[in-house]
Amino acid sequence: MSRKTIFNVEIFDGEKSLPGRSSVHVSGDRIVAVGNTTGDFAADELIDGNGMTLMPGMTTCHFHAEFAYLKVETYFDHAVGTERPPGMLMLVAANSMKTALMSGYTGVIGAACSAQIDPQLKMAMNEGIIIGPRILPCSRGLDSPGHGLNDPAPWWKKMMAEGSFRFCDGPDEFRRAVRDEVRMGAEIIKIFPTTGHGAEEPHNIKGFTDDELRVTIEAAHQRNVKVRAHCCYRDDIFKCIEYGVDVIDHGDEIDDEIIELMIRKGTYFVPSMYNVKMLRAQTQFNLHEAYDMNERRTDDAYYTTLENVKKASRAGVKVVSGDDYGLEAIPHALGEYSKEHPYYVDEVGVPATEVLTWATKNGAELLGQNSGMIAVGKLADLILVEGRPTEDIGCLVDVNNIRLIMLGGDVVKNTVDEMSIGRVGLAAIS
Ligand SMILES: [Zn+2]
Repeated sequence: MSRKTIFNVEIFDGEKSLPGRSSVHVSGDRIVAVGNTTGDFAADELIDGNGMTLMPGMTTCHFHAEFAYLKVETYFDHAVGTERPPGMLMLVAANSMKTALMSGYTGVIGAACSAQIDPQLKMAMNEGIIIGPRILPCSRGLDSPGHGLNDPAPWWKKMMAEGSFRFCDGPDEFRRAVRDEVRMGAEIIKIFPTTGHGAEEPHNIKGFTDDELRVTIEAAHQRNVKVRAHCCYRDDIFKCIEYGVDVIDHGDEIDDEIIELMIRKGTYFVPSMYNVKMLRAQTQFNLHEAYDMNERRTDDAYYTTLENVKKASRAGVKVVSGDDYGLEAIPHALGEYSKEHPYYVDEVGVPATEVLTWATKNGAELLGQNSGMIAVGKLADLILVEGRPTEDIGCLVDVNNIRLIMLGGDVVKNTVDEMSIGRVGLAAIS
């Protein structure tokens, strides 16, 4: 089993910075020791971190691997996920996975895909055909026919394909859909109780009846599979959490009561507000005018959401990172996934250590992996960063600052000075 030591590093362990500089020892795929040890750990490979920051690899928790420069306008033309034939979408997805890994992400969680792409990505990585982060594969997005923004394509185009959606009617069809998707490899089921997020529809428009919602969640949990809900309106968020949804995506109208309920139920929360920021600048108002939506999301509502995201994080809600990357405004590109972090710190006012915990400890926990922390026994999914992310979280955006990436103990990127590798005796490790 290969043994590696990364020494002379500052450590952010997933929750906090450890004092001074120290070392991390890795044996096989695990961290076996952390701290200033000169003991009898004989490493095959020594890496001098030279004062850089070692932290857990990050997890991005709302991932659409096959989105490629999706334009908002095209939502209204055809179902998302039918832009290209499935083979092309898979190539895009494989590329996104590599991009995520090389951006310092050792985990991704799917948030609805077409053509069973997520489960196939997992198969391809298990067989060593492609490289990428660990993945929690998602289903298609379950919804009912004619649910506003989610099902806007002319009916004759819809006959061709549902893309990344699967439209169901009645509890039996939803139950069947969950079981089918699980059989095809989904480990998290995506549902759309509401549309919204940046662009609003009247709140009385719902994707699910109460019965459909209950049955869908129950069917997933009976297969030990999680449920994530695209849910933006207050009463619907509340209901989803009460019924046992594991992840609230977007959650624009969270409030104090919902924050309390999320904490009580251990619900994860993906605010994904970076996308809204970018869309507001580009398309929001045109979108409303073009499609005659009658409930505009106001500036006030936007800033109220941001205030509540900050409050939720401070109160202890398990907030995680992630967004709709692959949209034209936030494309899959090296470093792109880390741009949301300085946004939450600088524009929303969340402390950098909290945002780093979203991206590491919380994300890995939702991923269901024993990673996301630097501690003995954890998987060695690690990144070595030039700079101090706790003080300048934006340093993660430039992938040149990510000098070393380790996935399960395997080094997948290393630009640390070659001179410092393997030339130092154990006595130097202190
Ligand atoms: Zn999404």
